[in-house]
Order: sequence, then structure tokens, then C-alpha cells
Amino acid sequence: MSQHNTITNPQEIYDVIIVGAGPVGLATAIGLRQRGIENILIIDQTRAFRPVGQVLDLLPNGLKALKELDANAYTAVKDNAIKLLSPPQSDHKKNAKTSPQWVYKNLQGQLIRSIPLGFDDWFKDYGEGRLSLAWFELQTTLRNLIPPETVKANHRCIHLVDEPENGCVRLECVSDGRFEDNPYAYWEENSTPANNSTQNIDNLPPKLISKTFRGKLIVGADGINSNVRQVIYKDTPYSVFAKPQYSGFAAITCRDIKDLPNQVQTQIVNTFLQDTFIATISNDCISENSPDVIEPRMMLFSRQPGQFGYVIHLPVTLESLQNKSGQDLIDLALQELEKADFPSSLKELVAISPPANIQQRPYYIHHTSNETDAGTITPAWSKERVVLVGDAAHGMPPFMAQGANQGLEDALAVVTIIANIAKQNYWHDIKAISQQFAQYEHLRRPFVAYIQAATLTRFPQTSNQQWHEYNQKVYTRDAKKIMDF
Ligand SMILES: Cc1cc2nc3c(=O)[nH]c(=O)nc-3n(C[C@H](O)[C@H](O)[C@H](O)COP(=O)(O)OP(=O)(O)OC[C@H]3O[C@@H](n4cnc5c(N)ncnc54)[C@H](O)[C@@H]3O)c2cc1C
Repeated sequence: MSQHNTITNPQEIYDVIIVGAGPVGLATAIGLRQRGIENILIIDQTRAFRPVGQVLDLLPNGLKALKELDANAYTAVKDNAIKLLSPPQSDHKKNAKTSPQWVYKNLQGQLIRSIPLGFDDWFKDYGEGRLSLAWFELQTTLRNLIPPETVKANHRCIHLVDEPENGCVRLECVSDGRFEDNPYAYWEENSTPANNSTQNIDNLPPKLISKTFRGKLIVGADGINSNVRQVIYKDTPYSVFAKPQYSGFAAITCRDIKDLPNQVQTQIVNTFLQDTFIATISNDCISENSPDVIEPRMMLFSRQPGQFGYVIHLPVTLESLQNKSGQDLIDLALQELEKADFPSSLKELVAISPPANIQQRPYYIHHTSNETDAGTITPAWSKERVVLVGDAAHGMPPFMAQGANQGLEDALAVVTIIANIAKQNYWHDIKAISQQFAQYEHLRRPFVAYIQAATLTRFPQTSNQQWHEYNQKVYTRDAKKIMDF
């Protein structure tokens, strides 16, 4: 297959190359190093690591997996998590011992359930806690546990080529050479005219440099738009599943809404945000009586008195979002809230939202299985020496806060499998490697399918019993059992 010469120096071949320095790629790297597999490389396409991404909730199953991957990583993540503050509206509860609660309410403001946000409450119930931290904070915390020379930014994987003669895969990537030409380019980007720099680096034509690395195994941890996935599915029955599919759900969000009329503000606070700063509001009659009807849900938050924000999850078409202005999105949200009988106070909150603060986000998914005319197709998560983990394998909407948590479970499973490949010295046995990766998928796919079903149908939220069963099933497992599920 390759026209390249045989490599004579084995040092030039990494044991494992991880594509993507997101939470799952980095956790995989940490777990491999912890198990003595240190000849590894992690590449990421980002031109420089910088604060991007949303706040993530790490739940007991993900944290148990992280602890099993590396106890130091678990401690570092725990130390860097967001410290929870008491809700601003509840001065009288400031000294209360209970942690802040995330409440679920119906449209009348009646409590459906309330979930403590504190680490210790979750630990008591599930043997492990719950943390929130920003994606970038998680990335930085994990990255700091890996030698800097092992993690390369500004390297975008564009192609993989099997090199059977060398017992490896050649990974081709490109770097933006502007940074290497000028090590201060990053600072120039942020410089002021006073620094006598009028040229913005982003406006310069890119100077792309190709680079090649070789790895005995490649872990594709490059997120929902995974290029590794696209390469391994090309010209296979899975090619139509190479790119993610629209999940049918989107979010319309708005932050920093001030100047609400006093009366509306009082209604919202008294009905939905009493003693909390975060509430999820939905029409519980629809949920309980017709679980197949997916209704909009509003996540309402107020971190400072008089200041509100929301995330509305809507079942809408992709077309209804595309090329729409802030005002169009407000109108769309209002139309959907009207259909679902949302109260006037919440509709007024949406109506008054500054159009400039409105954002939309369609959610994409890689289904664990797809019903087609040709039957059920379950796109494989590996091909010979290449394996997919995290969002690259099964990215999904964040309704159950499980994307990264499932990815951490993948990391533990794949690290265990790779450690076995190393122990058995299967590096040159492509059949044994394929079998090992099939085993990883066999262990993980049924559980991810369960999580995806919960995410898309929200069945755990239809009754307290379902909710309890889901929590028990997902959170109480022993991390070592992740491999036995
Ligand atoms: C609004 C929102 C809220 C969420 N909330 C939660 C939550 O509360 N809990 C939870 O568990 N999950 C949550 N998720 C999901 C979570 O963010 C993802 O599941 C998680 O980030 C996946 O991690 P990953 O490492 O697989 O991929 P990513 O985080 O997407 O990281 C992929 C990395 O690969 C790099 N990359 C991409 N392409 C290439 C390439 N060709 N070459 C080299 N590098 C490449 C990217 O730069 C990136 O650094 C949420 C998601 C969203 C959108």
C-alpha cells in the first residue's frame, strides 16, 4: 500500500499516537503513561491552547473512570473544579449546610425533583462525587500532567496510511507555519497599535507545512467532527456515517438579560428560582402521559440578582435555525414555548432577550446503530490499528451530561486493552489487535447505546422510578466493572 521506504530506526515509530488533545485524548494518554506506555504522542489541531468550550459536569461514572486511569489526574481535576456558591436569592439559607440544588419544575412551578450539586451529596449516594469545570480548565489540568513535548498543538491530522511493512500507520498532518516562522506571532495577534503592529496574523494567508508521524496504534479522539473517523470509513459500508448527523435537537441560549420588568422578575424568581440559581422547566403532563412527545425544556439560571439567562432545548429542524437572526431565533423559541403552554413570565423573558445575546447550537450525534433500508448498521469503532474514542465514536447531545463522562469510560477501556496488547506483545499481530479493539467496542457499545437512548428520548425523566433506576445503573458501577458491563 505504501510507496515509502521501510523504516530502519524503530525509535521513529510511536507505540500510540492520539489524535485530539480534548478531555478524552488526554485522559487516554495519562492512563497509558500510568501503565508504562510512554512512547506516545498527542497532536491537536488547535493553533494554540486557549480558553474555549463550555462548562462540563463530571458525574460519578466519569470520575470513577478517571480515578482508575490515574488517581493524580482525579485529584488535580477535583482541585480545579468550580467552587459552588450559595444561590444569591436565598440569603436566609446562606449558612445552611446543604449544597445548592438544581431543581426540576413543571410549568406551574411545582417541584418535580431536586438534585444536589455538591460533591459530597453525590458521593454519599453513588460512591463518587459530582464536579463542574470548564472544558478548557479540564483540558489544561490534564495537559499539565503530561510532558509538554508529548502534546503538540498546531498539528491537524488530515490522513492515515497503513504501512504494513513497518508494522504501523503513517499519520499525515498539517501545521500552520506562520507560528513557527515567528515565535511571537501569538502575541502580535493580541498587540495594540501602540506596539506598531497593524497586521493581524489571522489575515495573513496560511502557510501550511506537512508533517508525518508513525504509530503502531492510532487513537482517534478528535471529537464529533473526527477526521480519523472519516478516513477509516472512507470507501466502506459506513461511509455515510463518517460525518455526524443532526440529532433533531438544538439549543437557543441567551445570557445577561437585565432590565426585566419588576413584576415579571418577581414572578420568575418566586415561581421557579426560589432558593436556587438553576432550574429546568418542562411540561411534566406531556412527559408523563406521552413519553414519545419531546417537548421543549428551559434551563433557567440567575447567578446575580436581576440578571437572568436560559438555554432552551428544542426539537426543531436544522433549516429553522440556519441563517436566522437573533430576532428570528427569539420568535422561533416563543412559538415553541407557546405550543408547549409555557407561562407568560417565561415567554416575556424570552421576548425581552437582547437579540445580540442570542445564540443557537444544533446538536449532532454519531448513533451507536442506524436503521436503514439495508437493516441495522452499527458503524465499527475501529479498523485494524486505528480505534475511535469519545465524541469521535459516539458524540451526542448533552441532555444527560454524559458525553465527556462516557468518553472517560472509553479512555479507561481502551487503555486497558492497549496495555494488554503491550503485555502480550501483539504489536505486530494485526489480527490480535483487531480482536482487542473489537473487544473494547463490545464492552462499551451496549452501555453507550443505553445512554444515547436516555439522551434522545429522555426516558429517565418521565418518572421518579425511571430516574432512580437510571441513576443506579449509570453511577453506582464500580470502575473496574466498566470493563465487565
Ligand atoms: C453545550 C454542551 C454542554 C456539554 N455538557 C456536558 C456535561 O455536562 N458533561 C459531559 O460529560 N459532557 C458534556 N458535553 C459533551 C462534552 O463536551 C464532549 O462529550 C467532550 O468534550 C468530548 O471529548 P472528546 O475529547 O472526545 O472531544 P473534544 O472535546 O471535542 O476534543 C477533541 C479535540 O480534538 C481536536 N481535533 C479535532 N480534529 C482534529 C484533527 N483533525 N487533528 C488534530 N486534532 C483535532 C480538537 O481541537 C479538540 O481539542 C457538553 C457538550 C456541549 C456542546
